[in-house]
Amino acid sequence: MGNKRNKQVVHELQFNVAQLLKEVTGANRRYDVNSKIIDRLDEDTILISPLVGQVKFLRTGSDILVYGSLQTIIQKSCGRCLISFTTPISMELEEQFYPTVDVTTGSALSPPTDSDEANRINEQHILDLLEVVRQGLLLESGGFLYCRPDCKGLCPQCGQDRNTNSCTCQDDAIDVRWAGLQALQESINSEQ
Ligand SMILES: [Zn+2]
Ligand SMILES: [Zn+2]
Repeated sequence: MGNKRNKQVVHELQFNVAQLLKEVTGANRRYDVNSKIIDRLDEDTILISPLVGQVKFLRTGSDILVYGSLQTIIQKSCGRCLISFTTPISMELEEQFYPTVDVTTGSALSPPTDSDEANRINEQHILDLLEVVRQGLLLESGGFLYCRPDCKGLCPQCGQDRNTNSCTCQDDAIDVRWAGLQALQESINSEQ
């Protein structure tokens, strides 16, 4: 367990917290984040700017509380009109991370059984924010389903984008539906 193993930070959302774990409750670190490690959240959601913000690590009891705020810009396609649109998103972070190894004795620790795998500090004392940040961004981006709340979408009949072109299909479609209802109503009436 020499210092060499403490060098195993491989991306910008991983932090070596060995030193912080040796300190007392209340000790803290502040880090600026500027990372491109996450470039997409799902098939249709791409990050088009680096993830930026600040995180603070606070030593509390037997664990480390991480909190902060991160921002980025995502690009996805509208669920109604299919155009690609961009929107800024931000997420608040507040997560507890548990050590799996005692930093001074090297003996194994058991994190709370209900703690998520993603919230564990590994044996090399690396605290990895990647998974909790990815989950947080997914949650935030999930609300943006349409390019704008009142997107009119594509006309199901002629395929035109109703935001930019008006077509006459819509009225006809309503008339057709009404005609169907009227016919139904008439047939019910005539049976009585
Ligand atoms: Zn749209
Ligand atoms: Zn149309």
